Amino acid sequence: MANGLAQVRLQAVHADEAPAIDDAAARGWPEIPKSVLEAATAPLLERLTTLQDAFHADGRRALLLVLQGRDAAGKDGVIRTVTGAFNPTGVQVSSFGPPTPLELRHDFLWRVHQVVPPRGVIGVFNRSHYEDVLVVRVRGLVPESVWQARYAQINAFEEMLTANGVIIRKCFLHVSRDEQKARLQERLDDPQKNWKFQLGDLDDRARWDDYTAAYDTLLRRCSTPEAPWFVVPSDRKTLRNYLIARMLVETLESLDLRYPPMDPAVREAARDFR
Ligand code: ATP
Repeated sequence: MANGLAQVRLQAVHADEAPAIDDAAARGWPEIPKSVLEAATAPLLERLTTLQDAFHADGRRALLLVLQGRDAAGKDGVIRTVTGAFNPTGVQVSSFGPPTPLELRHDFLWRVHQVVPPRGVIGVFNRSHYEDVLVVRVRGLVPESVWQARYAQINAFEEMLTANGVIIRKCFLHVSRDEQKARLQERLDDPQKNWKFQLGDLDDRARWDDYTAAYDTLLRRCSTPEAPWFVVPSDRKTLRNYLIARMLVETLESLDLRYPPMDPAVREAARDFR
């Protein structure tokens, strides 16, 4: 790569290895200028548009992109910028807030399974079933024995989805404490961003270390070759977007996508078409 970005790519977290989720991991590659990242991201987004068209037509698999991160980590920004490259017809974005009373009467994966994308469609999860081992663990919303059992249940669920044609990629948008502070401050100061600020954000920020521990566990226990986790350095939006766009391009390019050939009967019937 002439632009020096060959090594600038996401690496899947290896199961049972402690992933780096410190401040340096949130910065990533600070030496790469913004202009270089932007110039490299534009063609990736164009490529994503083309690849999604083929993915949709091919229709043999679904793709599920899971986005997790602390408040203001940039989940909305990724949805706008990176998945914005896709034709909306073939994309389904699902956001997971606090469960409703009905959802709480079901198992924790019930609401998730219903919105797993069908074949041909790219699904994006803005938060996900991983909240059930994050906020639920940190705030003690269920007994420890219940959330502890969920790592294996999540792995079994994702394994079942993968075996049924769903390609899963999971991104932890990792911001540093200082960067989160700056972004939350902006939400307090900017009238157009005030609405995004919630008291719960301060509460969660105060539990920073507990969330770090919870992320550390899920990254180690739920990153599998078929459904890998990636720690995305997210202090810089341009780097974050580049890395996720590149990972998605590489994922889609690995799939041997094919446009279905025309049915011979249709071709025959259309022989005299003018
Ligand atoms: P975001 O912060 O994701 O941009 P938001 O602030 O608009 O979104 P909602 O979408 O209403 O808020 O909900 C997000 C909140 O829901 C988060 O605080 C998250 O921890 C919480 N949440 C998500 N899943 C669960 C769950 N299974 N149990 C409890 N709380 C959950």
